[in-house]
Amino acid sequence: MSNTIEINPIKTWLPRINNPLLISGPCSLETEKQALETARLLAKDPRVFVYRGGVWKPRTRPGSFEGVGSIGLKWLQQIRKETGLLVGTEVANAQHTEEALKSGIDVIWIGARSTASPFVVQEIANVIKGSQVVVMVKNPVNPDVQLWIGAIERIYQAGIKNIVAIHRGFTPFKETNYRNYPNWTTVIELRRLLPSLPIICDPSHIAGKREYLFEIAQKAFDMGLEGLMLESHIDPSCALSDAEQQLKPAELGKLLDKLVIRHESANNVDFENRLDMLRNRIDNIDSELLEILSSRVEIVKQIGRYKKENNVTALQMNRWSMLMESRVKLGKKLDLNETFVKILFQLIHEDSVRMQTEIMDSE
Ligand code: PEP
Ligand code: MN
Repeated sequence: MSNTIEINPIKTWLPRINNPLLISGPCSLETEKQALETARLLAKDPRVFVYRGGVWKPRTRPGSFEGVGSIGLKWLQQIRKETGLLVGTEVANAQHTEEALKSGIDVIWIGARSTASPFVVQEIANVIKGSQVVVMVKNPVNPDVQLWIGAIERIYQAGIKNIVAIHRGFTPFKETNYRNYPNWTTVIELRRLLPSLPIICDPSHIAGKREYLFEIAQKAFDMGLEGLMLESHIDPSCALSDAEQQLKPAELGKLLDKLVIRHESANNVDFENRLDMLRNRIDNIDSELLEILSSRVEIVKQIGRYKKENNVTALQMNRWSMLMESRVKLGKKLDLNETFVKILFQLIHEDSVRMQTEIMDSE
């Protein structure tokens, strides 16, 4: 069903947008004063279109601040009326969703922990059937693109076409300075599988710390994502959740000033011509690469047959260690990234062993 999904562009539900989509506001709404004062400052910046504020907070451990609950929806209504910003909050069950819809919340989002649970997503989808709400779907905590797409499909099947995906990083499965591992390959895969789906980035939950917000936000624009969700708070040092990753509204403005917004194309003939020329060269190099790989495969097969005749194993650890070491060394000399060379040769070698065992097991 993935290929048949046609999601509305952001402009459909936000005609005044002049790219990118910026969403900001506190991690959690804490008091009426905090919610409104933050909103008033954000509303002065025309780059911010949507105000976010968590009212039901999914916390990893019990005992942390779990949000102000339904009263926060009233504050969001007030903010909407007073500032003209669209307002959004996270929903995690049918009751949250019913209350959010009743309060006229413009945007609801499904949090990372909920996206990982098809029952929860379906429960939310059943409530929003027939409504005009915009639904944002955060990635699941694990980098499973199918689980992310599954959640989007459930919302889409409920008749909602105003959907946006939010990339907020994944529970770290590799060493990282960030709170959540960005794993951009999952985002690229989502874009490839659902090309019409707008995707925005949430640098706050990836970074976990203010100091990393800029580099992640810039990377999101470099990758062509359509917007950002950045947490902001009138006084982050007193925030009841995610204190270290929130920005004062003025700091948010400064961060936005520094970001370079890139476009899918430059609308400039010289640029397009030069890019075409460089891409042609890449296309030629790629076909040479594949031809070289195919010659390598021929030799691998000869070795496989030769080993078979002599009853020798397909995998020989000494040879493999030596090969890897020498390729990484040569790669370094050629200024290639070490991890890249390692992964490349792991793949090449794995496939060689596969071909040789196939030859040995045939006839
Ligand atoms: C949030 O946006 O405040 C939040 C809880 O996010 P996530 O679901 O990405 O952890
Ligand atoms: Mn948060």
